[in-house]
Amino acid sequence: MEEQTIRVQRCETKKEKPQDDQLSFGKIFTDHMFVMDYSEPLGWHNASIVPYQPLQIEPSAMVFHYAQSVFEGLKAYRTDNGSIELFRPEKNMERLNRSNDRLCIPPIDEEFALKAIKQLVSIDRDWVPHTEGTSLYIRPFIISTETYIGVSASTRYKFIVILSPVGAYYKEGINPVKIAVEDEYVRTVKGGTGEAKTGGNYAASLKAQELVAQTGYTQVLWLDGVEKKYIEEVGSMNVFFKINGEVITPKLNGSILSGITRSSVIELLQHWDIPVVEKRISIEELYEAYQRGELEEAFGSGTAAVISPIGELKWGDKQLIINDGKTGDISKKVYDTITGIQYGHMEDPFNWMQNIETESPVKH
Ligand SMILES: *Cc1c(COP(=O)(O)O)cnc(C)c1O
Repeated sequence: MEEQTIRVQRCETKKEKPQDDQLSFGKIFTDHMFVMDYSEPLGWHNASIVPYQPLQIEPSAMVFHYAQSVFEGLKAYRTDNGSIELFRPEKNMERLNRSNDRLCIPPIDEEFALKAIKQLVSIDRDWVPHTEGTSLYIRPFIISTETYIGVSASTRYKFIVILSPVGAYYKEGINPVKIAVEDEYVRTVKGGTGEAKTGGNYAASLKAQELVAQTGYTQVLWLDGVEKKYIEEVGSMNVFFKINGEVITPKLNGSILSGITRSSVIELLQHWDIPVVEKRISIEELYEAYQRGELEEAFGSGTAAVISPIGELKWGDKQLIINDGKTGDISKKVYDTITGIQYGHMEDPFNWMQNIETESPVKH
């Protein structure tokens, strides 16, 4: 594919930036955004960085009706030496194309998209907050824009990237959460879109989340959509259990989202020679391990929190208190290492970090 150029139109007045300690998640957006169009026969074209602004889209645009859209989520970190770096961003671009394929959206040029993201972050680099734990959240997404309310794959799309400075997920130290096993609603099923990062999966998950919040639990533990027996994910994170010295995470099965934090956790555990397996695990098996006193730790993994320890699990009328409701050693070690690599105060043995000013990985 011929290399495209990115047109840059800078904003005239810059917005006021929030204080680091005032930041929450995803409500404030930076000065610029990246936009690119797709139409036939041009393919992806019109790559531009423009001031952050509303879109002009007709109400008949297909995305509003049949949800043909995909997204990604990654972060830019300000490291100890002042550089701004991304964590394994090429994996997000690969996954975006896998989601595209599932939703019948034409593929993007992964290298070009990453280059565009780096240039956008570089232009808005003053928006990357400085305090440990804070970051600049990057939200690439694609929407179908053809003006047609018949059901088919769109012939027009927009690929957009917006940026949002976000606060530290754990302000007072990493904190275990209470989770309830969901045995009525399901997030997705094998053969559905669970493997794709698409908004519809989130729309489908809201009801269970709303109900569980009313009972004092933070999130649900999702079971498989066929037998409601096997553990899949926790909220919008992947899930890990440490049972009798071995770390187990549900095997990717077509309905589980393949998290980049998930694979980083697996790679780290292997690097440390800690037994880790990807396999199918049922909620009964987990409960039996608990009864034998072998369920040692449980945690979720994802870009937002990195690691979210599970202190309590409710399954029907059973209540499982894990590691006395405290953060386990492995959970803590994985959290400290991944965030240590991200903020540049630990060695990066896997070359996971990429400087936004260069096109190839950097080494700490
Ligand atoms: C994004 C996402 C995850 C976590 O993926 P990361 O790449 O680790 O951020 C897990 N589950 C679901 C449903 C997701 O959408």
